[in-house]
Amino acid sequence: MASYDVVVIGTGISGSFTALHLVDAGFKVLVVDRNGLAAGTSRASDGNLLISDKSPGVLFDMTIDSFVHWDAMIAALGNHCEYDIKGATLATMDPKRRDKLDAHAKEHAAHGVRAELLKPEDVHRIEPVLHPEVAAVGWWPDDRQVQPMLACYQIAKHLQARGVEYRLYDELLAIEPSATSVRLRFATGPTVACDRLALCTGVWTPMLLKPLGYDLPVLPRKGQIAVIERSTLDVRTKIADFAYNDLVEEIDPDDPRPQTAAIVEGTHSGTILCGSSRQFVGLDRTVDMDVLAMIMRDCCVFVPGLKDLRVIRGYAGLRPCTPDGLPVIGPVDDHARIYVATGHEGTGHGLAGATGAMMADLMTGKGHRLATACDPKRFFK
Ligand SMILES: Cc1cc2nc3c(=O)[nH]c(=O)nc-3n(C[C@H](O)[C@H](O)[C@H](O)COP(=O)(O)OP(=O)(O)OC[C@H]3O[C@@H](n4cnc5c(N)ncnc54)[C@H](O)[C@@H]3O)c2cc1C
Repeated sequence: MASYDVVVIGTGISGSFTALHLVDAGFKVLVVDRNGLAAGTSRASDGNLLISDKSPGVLFDMTIDSFVHWDAMIAALGNHCEYDIKGATLATMDPKRRDKLDAHAKEHAAHGVRAELLKPEDVHRIEPVLHPEVAAVGWWPDDRQVQPMLACYQIAKHLQARGVEYRLYDELLAIEPSATSVRLRFATGPTVACDRLALCTGVWTPMLLKPLGYDLPVLPRKGQIAVIERSTLDVRTKIADFAYNDLVEEIDPDDPRPQTAAIVEGTHSGTILCGSSRQFVGLDRTVDMDVLAMIMRDCCVFVPGLKDLRVIRGYAGLRPCTPDGLPVIGPVDDHARIYVATGHEGTGHGLAGATGAMMADLMTGKGHRLATACDPKRFFK
């Protein structure tokens, strides 16, 4: 039976960065996905890497770490994933929210992040497509954007060139742990043994852990994106409604009604991505046209030029959401053989670098300063 130091399940952004950091740390790794590369939520999202939507705390610190890891990955492997430090504008149409936006920018500046409330005369220099009567705009020049699928592809290509085996289109069906190793059974491929398992399986992680007696509260939070036709509308920054930050924190899994707030970003191909929604409807990934219409109504408020353009398609993905809004990263079992990295909700790309580094640091025994906050065992007490 083939044997590995670590088997990573999932080739989304969490699995990709985890595999990269584990290989860099010297582990012999096998990477498996039941579909093609990045076939889960990482294929059905935006690609924003944002500090502007965080408040000081664990996610804030992880994002700062992640920026460093993203930069390092690009420096080492090249930029084949449309990685762009383009900056983000947070906007409000409500003059009463101006002070809150100003306070948010000042709080970030006090924590060493470049952020400011723009003077009215500077708004259209930074972001010409914003509504001329926008009440206030904050500017975060270091926020980034990436094409997440391309990032997963480039990491896979790099690791395969280093001899790492990728087994695609094979599904992990059963995990059989013992005190000394883990045996894994798959749908089609041979059984393998490993010292440690890394489940980077997004919203599907609870289903894999349930037979082992672990009830991981990671819920799918559906989100939709409308793709707008190519045009001359020049969206330079990632534009978000300042209210977007509040929406993320309003978690009520018992309420299936969709919530939306505007987020608009241009892409290298010339299309514009308009998002997004949040909704608890189980594993349903169908595109709901009424929700796309809600999204477009929101986005047209901030970017009126969108009204003249056509939506050419929509897609939906499932954010892995935890009750406390923090990811789950680390071992679930007392023997530290079965690790998970999920629960990043709408910021999995932004946190991916830090996630991979934390997984490697935990497995090498170095530990990580944010590990306690992300410890899966907080849900098993
Ligand atoms: C509409 C929307 C917009 C978003 N925008 C952003 C954004 O701008 N910035 C940001 O940072 N985040 C964003 N997110 C969130 C981000 O997409 C997720 O947090 C991230 O993609 C999660 O990545 P992952 O690798 O953990 O999971 P996934 O990408 O879901 O990967 C899990 C992988 O595991 C595989 N798998 C599952 N079960 C098995 C099994 N039994 N055997 C083998 N393989 C298995 C799946 O096939 C899949 O490839 C958005 C999400 C949505 C829905």
